[in-house]
Amino acid sequence: MGCNCNKKTGVTSLEDSIKKMYQNQDTTQTQTPTQTPISQKSYNILDVIKDKLKGKLESVDDTTKEKRLEVCDKCSYLIHLTRNCKLCGCFVDLKAQFKKSTCPKSFW
Ligand code: SF4
Repeated sequence: MGCNCNKKTGVTSLEDSIKKMYQNQDTTQTQTPTQTPISQKSYNILDVIKDKLKGKLESVDDTTKEKRLEVCDKCSYLIHLTRNCKLCGCFVDLKAQFKKSTCPKSFW
């Protein structure tokens, strides 16, 4: 109270330090997203719905789908519990069956 030593020394209050810490966390989170937003995915669920409504939804044959899933199963980007790709967020069991789907790392 009444002390101006913080201004002279550049030492910030605990409250300021906490605010800066949270600001830095927010910045870090926006710079390193773990998943691509749905609108930026090359062939996303909205495209699937559009193609389905137009009658243009094409699937690959079972062999191709199985080969794609074998690659996903060995991939470090697969979340095995939910069967999602960490990069695109897609459910790989669905994604692998559509002809226009692509792997974000071009593994298949
Ligand atoms: S889609 Fe590609 S990056 Fe994602 S889990 Fe499958 S192989 Fe890995």
